[in-house]
Formats: sequence, C-alpha cells, structure tokens
Amino acid sequence: MARYTGNVCRLCRREGYKLFLKGRRCESEKCAVDRRNVPPGMNVRARTRRLSDYGVHLREKQKVKRIYGVLERQFKRYFAMAERMKGNTGVNLMSLLERRLDNVVDAAGMSLSRPHARQLIGHGHFTVNGRKVDVASYLVRPGDLITPRTGEKSKKAVEDCLTLNSDKSVPSWIQVDSGGKTVKVLNNPAREDVRFQDIQEQFIVELCSK
Ligand code: SF4
Repeated sequence: MARYTGNVCRLCRREGYKLFLKGRRCESEKCAVDRRNVPPGMNVRARTRRLSDYGVHLREKQKVKRIYGVLERQFKRYFAMAERMKGNTGVNLMSLLERRLDNVVDAAGMSLSRPHARQLIGHGHFTVNGRKVDVASYLVRPGDLITPRTGEKSKKAVEDCLTLNSDKSVPSWIQVDSGGKTVKVLNNPAREDVRFQDIQEQFIVELCSK
C-alpha cells in the first residue's frame, strides 16, 4: 500500500478521533472532527454500524498507524521489536513510535505538524549528533543531539516554526535549548510522555499477537 496523500481530516473522521495531522488547525474551531464528527462517505449504514470486537481492536491499531504515519509493514516491525524488548509490549510499542525522529522534531516545535516534520527531515534539514539524517523513522536514543543544519534554508524553516510554536509545551523526555537550536534526548519516553493518553495499546497487542 502506498502512503496516503489524500485529505487527512477524513482519516480523523474515519476514526472519530483527533489525530493531530494539521498542526495549529487541529486546535482551532476549523477542525473537521469538532465540526462534523461522522465517518466520511455516502454510506449512512456504515456510519451507524456497531463495531465487532475485532473492529474495535483494528480501529485502535489504525489510529496509531495514522498518528505516526506508519504503514503496515513498518508497524509490524515496530511490534516485533516491542515484543523482543523487556517490559510491557504495548508500552514498548508506544515508546518506540515516540522515538521516531519526525515525532521528536514535531514535539520540539521545529515543525508545523508531524507530516511537516517528516518533509523537513526528508529534505535534509536536520542532523543527529552532527551527521545529516534524512530518514524520518530514525529512532533517537538518550544523549542524541538533534540540530537544524547550518544552511540558510534549514535555519529559516526551523526558526519560522519555532516562532509559531513558541507557546507549545515540550515533553519532559527531551530538552530544547533556550535558542531552540538544539534538541537533546534525555531518556526514553515513558507511557505518560505519550501525547495520546487514551490510546488502548493493549487492544493492539491482542490484535497483533493472534
Ligand atoms: Fe484531524 Fe487536525 Fe483535521 Fe482536526 S484539523 S480533523 S485533528 S487533521
């Protein structure tokens, strides 16, 4: 399956849940979920259908995949990694997804949204520990330093976002220096650090373990 390039608000309406894919717009009254929280499409029966147990579990997985912009194959890889790690598989899975470079750039306020962070990274605007990284799925580790590259374009792209996001709070597992020029990863994110506290990750574990 190719990456979804359509109207992302439809994805939120499909899930009946705010996936926060459009940055500031998601917090405004223009948000499509706030305005019209019904699944997209013409099929009225599909809108009122009660979900089976399998459906509920599947929707939870789809929500997480859509939030982080991950497709099925990559998601399975994250799940396999989470299973191999010590501790709760669901918590490990959420922690791995939070550690993606595009998520860190967005959480630090250096982009307008998670998809925008992915684009900035793909265009080579960031370095990790001094080396250019253009892979949005790069997993950061404690101690990593993420900085915009020194070129004019990179600096301007990031500075504009930082100005717009000046009132945004940064999660406690990362630290942004006062000038907003460097992000330091302090530790791996715990479950409480994940922005989407109401995700039922145990549903995903039950679904994927079958
Ligand atoms: Fe989802 Fe944001 Fe669109 Fe609202 S504005 S429906 S949260 S992408």
